[in-house]
Amino acid sequence: MAGTVLVTGGTGYIAGEVIDQLLDKGWCVRTTVRSKARSEARLRGRWPGAGDRLYVFEADLMDDAGWDLANEGCTHVCHVASPFPVGVPKDENELIVPAREGTLRALRFAHAAGVEHFVQTSSSAAIAYGHPASKTTFDERDWTNPDAPGVQPYVKSKTIAERAARDWVSGNAAGMAFCSVNPVAVLGPVVNDDLSASIEFVRRFLTGEIPAIPRIGFTIVDVRDVASLHVLALEASPETIRGERFACAADFMWMGDMARVLRDHMGADARKVPTRRMPTPILKLMALFNSEIRQIAGEVGKKKVVSGQHARDKLGWTTMPADQTVLDTGRSLVAQGIVRL
Ligand code: NAP
Repeated sequence: MAGTVLVTGGTGYIAGEVIDQLLDKGWCVRTTVRSKARSEARLRGRWPGAGDRLYVFEADLMDDAGWDLANEGCTHVCHVASPFPVGVPKDENELIVPAREGTLRALRFAHAAGVEHFVQTSSSAAIAYGHPASKTTFDERDWTNPDAPGVQPYVKSKTIAERAARDWVSGNAAGMAFCSVNPVAVLGPVVNDDLSASIEFVRRFLTGEIPAIPRIGFTIVDVRDVASLHVLALEASPETIRGERFACAADFMWMGDMARVLRDHMGADARKVPTRRMPTPILKLMALFNSEIRQIAGEVGKKKVVSGQHARDKLGWTTMPADQTVLDTGRSLVAQGIVRL
């Protein structure tokens, strides 16, 4: 099946891969960017053969301008854009407000344009935080408690945005087939130097900027599999996806194991990847002074396993091995000249 779909935030890592797969499957794709002057040529360069099957519109999450034009003629929307910075802002509303208001704006304009099939990119951030430490396995039935102590602004932003979207749909657009896709940490090949925050630690492993490995791990998923789940959700019948949440997860890995995969398979390109462990007290001390470290310090030693089984069962989704994902991330960073050794 193919129709016309709006993918918000076409400059993004995940949105780019979603657009790639949709174009491959014959969809007409519209996408929003904050600045056409900055981004349109780059997007056209990535898909030179797309011709009039790709249109780029200017629209900001915080402004109504442009959203009506972007939605005109669309049958489906895939709302991916949301702030995803490295580090923690001083004011949590820098993330919460655009995430929530942007999602509501995307829904409102989609509904006004007659779109009845809407897929929101949420996150495992809306699933796996603010729970008791004894809870170690998670899936789409779990909700983050954004009011729990230590829950970070980004995690709050994704939880609040997804909740707001579901409330808005039930109050204003009951006929709309709405679902969320909730990825865990996304890795996989990068296509340019505009890196998603989730890629940063692999880049820093390779450059030697991370001198020792913290006892931190997370469930990861490949960007190609994240995109394929979005496409499956877009192409599924409205009944199949209505109200659903799809945790989008492959396998759990400790950072130490990711470093080992890079070292074992990338030869000299991995010579700066650390081998030493970072003692946890040192990491916690560093977190006092560094907001990027603060964002992850609360996760030290925690093994949180998120399951993607529901998406496999309901949509026939498949994922690639986690080692392959880590390796393809590292190799692409070198191939793109982003990591120079
Ligand atoms: P990304 O590459 O940083 O993409 C974020 C996108 O959001 C960019 O296109 C950015 O546009 C856009 N954006 C941010 N603020 C905006 C605003 N005010 N108005 C319009 N557009 C705005 O990150 P990503 O990894 O692809 O993430 C995409 C989505 O997936 C986000 O919703 C994120 O929460 C979610 N997610 C990501 C991961 C992960 O590990 N990567 C995991 C779970 C969920 P500019 O290029 O103009 O900045």
